[in-house]
Amino acid sequence: MKQERTITIAGAGLAGSLLGVMLGQRGYQVTILERRSDTRGVESDSGRSINLALSSRGIHALKIAGLFERVEELLIPMKGRMLHFQNGTEEFSPYGQRESEVIYSVSRRDLNHLMIDAAVEAPLVEVLFDQQLDAVDFKNNSLEIRDLKSNRTRTEEFELLIGADGAGSRTRRSLIKEVGGKSESDFLDHDYKELEITAGKTASGPEYQIEPHALHIWPRGGFMLIALPNQDHSFTVTLFMPKTGENSFEQLSDRDALVDFFKAEFPSAVKLIDNLENDFFGNPQGRLGTVRCKPWFYKDKVLILGDAAHAIVPFHGQGMNEGFEDCSELIRLLDEHDEDWGKVIPEFDSVRRPNCHAIAEMALENYVTMRSSVADPKFQLKKEIGFELEKRFPTRFVPRYSMVMFRLIPYAEAMQRGVIQQEILGELVAGAKSIDDVDFAKAENKILRRLSTLN
Ligand code: FAD
Repeated sequence: MKQERTITIAGAGLAGSLLGVMLGQRGYQVTILERRSDTRGVESDSGRSINLALSSRGIHALKIAGLFERVEELLIPMKGRMLHFQNGTEEFSPYGQRESEVIYSVSRRDLNHLMIDAAVEAPLVEVLFDQQLDAVDFKNNSLEIRDLKSNRTRTEEFELLIGADGAGSRTRRSLIKEVGGKSESDFLDHDYKELEITAGKTASGPEYQIEPHALHIWPRGGFMLIALPNQDHSFTVTLFMPKTGENSFEQLSDRDALVDFFKAEFPSAVKLIDNLENDFFGNPQGRLGTVRCKPWFYKDKVLILGDAAHAIVPFHGQGMNEGFEDCSELIRLLDEHDEDWGKVIPEFDSVRRPNCHAIAEMALENYVTMRSSVADPKFQLKKEIGFELEKRFPTRFVPRYSMVMFRLIPYAEAMQRGVIQQEILGELVAGAKSIDDVDFAKAENKILRRLSTLN
C-alpha cells in the first residue's frame, strides 16, 4: 500500500540500504543519499577485501527483507575459533553445540553492493550517489546537501529523515545541536590494522592456506591477531593492539621492528602473510570506539540508527547485526502502531536503547575474552560446563555467546542472564580440575532458582 509519507535516508551503508529496501516494500517513497560514489561493478581501488561476521540477528532482518537467499551465496560458515598459540600448536573451540550454531564471514563490499542493488531495484526507492548530507535545518524541515561531484550545495525539504550515516554521523551532530542531549565518542587506546593471508596456489587452483570454516585467533594477552576467510580463498587478517607503550603500533615503526615482532609473536601466521611490510605500512591504522548518544530522535521528523546512533567496538562481531536488528525492530514497531511514526520513533528509542547499551558493554568485554581469556584453561573448562548445562537445561541455561550470536534474545536480557550464569559457573568451577568434578545436582538447584525459562 502506498504510504503518505516520503522518507529520506542519509547513508546507503549496511543499515541504510537494508532499511531503504524494507521501507520501499511497505510502500514508502524513499530517497537514499550516499556520499560515496557508486562503486558497483568497479574493481576495488585498494584491492583489499574486508569481511564481517554475520549472525542470527542480521540474518533475521535480511530474511524479513527477502534478501537472505541472495546473501547466502556470499557466506562462509565459521563453526568456531581456531586458537593459535605462541608455541605453534592450535586448538579448535566450537562456538555452539548445534549444527546451525555457526557465524558467517561475508565481504563488506559484496554485501553492501548486493543491498544497494536491492534498493535500486525496489520500485519506490532511489539511491543518489555523491550526495553528502551536510546539515539539517529543523525549523524549516530542510536538508543541506552537497553534490560532491560539482561541489555545489542545495537545500531540499524533507518530511522524515533517518540518519544511517555511520559513526561520524552528520545527522547526529545536527540533532544534538538542535535538541541538546548528549553525544560521546569514546575511543579505545587500541587501534587496528588490516593485513592479508593470500590464497595458496596449487595445480588445481587456489586453496585456503588455513582452515576456512573457523575464525582464527592468535591471542597474546594485551593484543591479538585474527583472520576471517574470503570466498577467493584468502583471509582478511586484523591486528588489534595498543597505540603506544609495550607491544604497540608506535613500536612497529620500521621493517625490522615489524618482522621481528611478527616472528616472535605470530610465528605460524608470519609465514602466511606474504605482503606483511607493504600491507602494514600501506594500510590505514583504524580507530575503535563506542558512540553513546541521547536522544536518537527529534519529534516524528528525525531518527538516527545503526552506527550513527550507537557504534560499538567490533569484538563481538555485532555492529552490523545490531544495525540490521534496528531495521527489523523499526518494521515490527510500524506493524504494531499501524505506521504511526509519532508513536514508533520514541518507542524505538526507549526499546532499543537498553539493548544497544548492553551490546556495547559486551563488545568491550569480549576484547579481553578474545585476546586473553580464550587461552586460559579455566575459561575452556567453564565453557565445557556451560555447554553441559545447556544440554541439561536447554530452556534456562544458554551460554551468553550463544544468546547474542544464535538467538534473538534482547541483548540486555542476554547480558543480565549472562551475569547470573557466570556466577553459577564461577561457583561450580571453583576447585574443579575437570568437568567430572562438577556437582550437577547443586547446579540444577541454582539454575532452577535463579534463571527463569527463556521465551
Ligand atoms: P556504515 O556501514 O558506516 O554506513 C554509513 C554510510 O553512510 C556509508 O556508506 C557512508 O559513506 C555514508 N555516509 C556517511 N556520512 C554521510 C553523509 N554526511 N551523507 C551521506 N552519506 C553519508 N559488525 C558486525 O556485525 N560483524 C563484524 O564482524 C564486524 N566487524 C567489524 C570490524 C571492524 C574492524 C570494524 C571497524 C567494524 C566491524 N563491524 C562489524 C561493525 C560494522 O562495520 C558497523 O557496525 C556497520 O558498518 C554499521 O553500519 P551502518 O550502516 O550503520 O554504517
